Amino acid sequence: MNSMAKEETKNVDAAEMQKKLSQYRQLAGLRDEIKDGVLRSVEDQLQVLSELGFSYRLVEGNTRASAAKTKRPKKILHCEICNVDGHDKRAHKNQKPRQAFTPKELEERGLVEAG
Ligand SMILES: [Zn+2]
Repeated sequence: MNSMAKEETKNVDAAEMQKKLSQYRQLAGLRDEIKDGVLRSVEDQLQVLSELGFSYRLVEGNTRASAAKTKRPKKILHCEICNVDGHDKRAHKNQKPRQAFTPKELEERGLVEAG
């Protein structure tokens, strides 16, 4: 017989919910207040660094995500025929006979790694 326990959880007290909601709003306001205070103090510290010649910026968001974004996922291709990076031997598939591209050809075809 657990019908009594069921009754308790089902019975939502509107006044109690209003009280909780008001507490929640107070907490949310407090949270913003703390955030603003911390931000101001961090900005003050950054200003001190800036005056010392160090340039830092306060950035909102996950730094790990942006670090992953800058990582190059593309694998560097290497051509055994030309012995250069930037393409592989598949670039020679229409070539008869297969031979290394000249530096000019590499440049024209955009097959060599820039830099
Ligand atoms: Zn090649």
